[in-house]
Parts: sequence; C-alpha cells; structure tokens
Amino acid sequence: MDETTLRAQLPEKIAARVSSLKVTGERVTAVLGGTGLTGRERAELENAAKQALESVAGVSEANIAITAEKVMRRFIAVGSGKGGVGKSTLTANLAVALKRMGYAVGVVDADIYGPSQPTLLASEGAKPEAIDQTLQPVTGVMGIPMLSMGHLIAPGKALAWRGPMVAGALTQLVEADWGAADIILLDLPPGTGDVQLTMVQKHKPDGAVIVSTPQDLALIDAARAGQLFETAGIPVIGLVENMAGYQCPHCGEFSDPFGQGGVESIAARLELPFLGRIPLTMDIRTASDAGTPPAAEDGPSGAAFAAIAAKLADWLGAPTSKPSASQAAQN
Ligand code: ADP
Repeated sequence: MDETTLRAQLPEKIAARVSSLKVTGERVTAVLGGTGLTGRERAELENAAKQALESVAGVSEANIAITAEKVMRRFIAVGSGKGGVGKSTLTANLAVALKRMGYAVGVVDADIYGPSQPTLLASEGAKPEAIDQTLQPVTGVMGIPMLSMGHLIAPGKALAWRGPMVAGALTQLVEADWGAADIILLDLPPGTGDVQLTMVQKHKPDGAVIVSTPQDLALIDAARAGQLFETAGIPVIGLVENMAGYQCPHCGEFSDPFGQGGVESIAARLELPFLGRIPLTMDIRTASDAGTPPAAEDGPSGAAFAAIAAKLADWLGAPTSKPSASQAAQN
C-alpha cells in the first residue's frame, strides 16, 4: 500500500491534517498538524486517525504523532474605575463583535466580585474540566471559548478568599488551554485594587480598554484606572463611554441621565483615544440578562458595539488564525 492510496481512504477532516505518512509492511506512522487545537481536540484527532488508519485493509498498526506550533496569543484587559458601568456587558459584546469579524476570540472573566460572563455569554452551569492540570474553557454564545470565576465557585464565595488564592485561581483561568483563540478579552474586577494590580503585573495584558459612564465621579475613577495601566507599561487602547443618552420608549424624547460627552473630553485631556459610546437602552439590559448579546444582531445597539470593535480591530491588526475545526462546527 502506498501513501496516496492510504490518504485517499481517510475521512477528509483527518486527511487535511496529515503532513506525512510512512508505510512499513503493515505498519503506518502518521504525523498530523494540530496547531490551534485544544488538548482535548488533539486527543480526539489522535484517536480518530488511529482508528481510521487501522480500519484500512492491510494495516495492522498505526502510530500517530500530532505536532503543534505555539499560538501567539494577545490579552486585552477591559477595566473600569468602578462597578456597574457596563464593563462586563462591553467585554461580552466586543467578544461577539470580534468573533463576527473573523477573530478567534476567547473571554476570561476575572471579575471575582461579580462574575457575570456566564450569564452574558450563556454558559451558566457549565463546569470546566482540567486535563493535565490545565483548565479547558467552556463554550459560550457563537462558540466563544470562555472561563469565569463563576464557573469555578458558588456566587459570592470568592469574596472571602485571600489575595494569594484569588491570584492563583485567576492564573489558572489565564493560562488555560485556549486552543486556537489568539485574542483573549480579560474582564477585570472594577477599580484599582490588589487583584487588578496582580493581573496587570503578572499577566501583562497587551493593551487595555477602559469603560466609564459620563458622570464626573465615574470619570475620576476611570482616569485612575488609566494610570494603573500606564504605570505598568500597558498601552491604553482607548476609552468607551457607556450609558450615554437615553431614549424614552414611550415618548421618544432623548435625555442624558449621566450627562454626555464626559468620557470623550477626559480621553482628550489624558491624550488617549476615544473608542465610542454605547447608549443606555432597555434592550441592552434585557438582552444581556437573557444571554443574547446585542452585538450578535445588526440592530442599533449591535452597531454601536460593532463600531467600537472595529476600532479595537484596527489596533489588533487583521485576524491571524482561523477558528479550530470544532469551533467552526459550532457556528
Ligand atoms: P460592570 O461589569 O461594570 O459591573 P455590567 O456590565 O455588569 O457592569 O452592567 C451593569 C448593569 O447595567 C447590568 O444590568 C447591565 O445589563 C446594565 N447595562 C450595562 N450597559 C448598559 C446599557 N448601555 N444600557 C442599558 N443597560 C446597561
């Protein structure tokens, strides 16, 4: 049996990954490319290839090796000066918008005080497994791989944890088996305390996005968050204004409960880019609670998130990796 005949008998999904096949009598040695696959996917590929080869008449034993290049991965922190300004909502929707643009994106929910990504990206109740002591992300909306403190502990429990325990758990989330995902959005806890400092110093995100509502008190804290990143040498990609302007669903009149334009002017004062604004709308709140991020749709709220994701994409450059086979299958 020669290599070409053997290759032709393999399922297409396996054949596409074969980089070499060597036949010695009834024995076959195959090398398959596993770049971008998670540990679990690599193991599945190995089993499937072995079974497929050994079921070919004339083959009694198949030895499989899977090779993999290291994925160059970038972490983008999403931070805010205070809680409740929409940092998690923005993170989830940016992930969805980037995914729609072709990025292989993942999400780490490091907000130990209010891990909301499992709700926002519809993966509540999922339990991440560990393989060889490395956490395997669970899958959220649109096949986005994600991990949250909310997947690991009961709500509210982490509040009682000591600093080193929190830092240890967050490291496991960051250093999980992210497979093909090469852009990871990090939803940080609000504020500029120890957890944020550890995340920033230990894991050195490649860039940071800061979210604020437009009122003065939030702006002061947002500026402080900007300083935290800059002091650690992390480039601030830009500032986002959330909850800017409200249209009354009954009379259609616009009002600005928190003022408007405050974030843009503070960005100018700090000489940081302004990435855009998201209006305060009922549909953002209800869609978020329902695990259906508005960025998955083309409506006005979706467009607001997409415009900010486009600026983030400019900063990131073109997508470099394709989603893995299993991620693509889930879309
Ligand atoms: P943070 O992560 O900063 O604590 P969240 O993203 O959890 O904030 O948002 C806090 C609350 O505000 C959530 O109930 C969310 O649905 C709501 N929210 C966030 N942004 C908007 C918006 N633009 N319009 C309406 N509700 C919003």
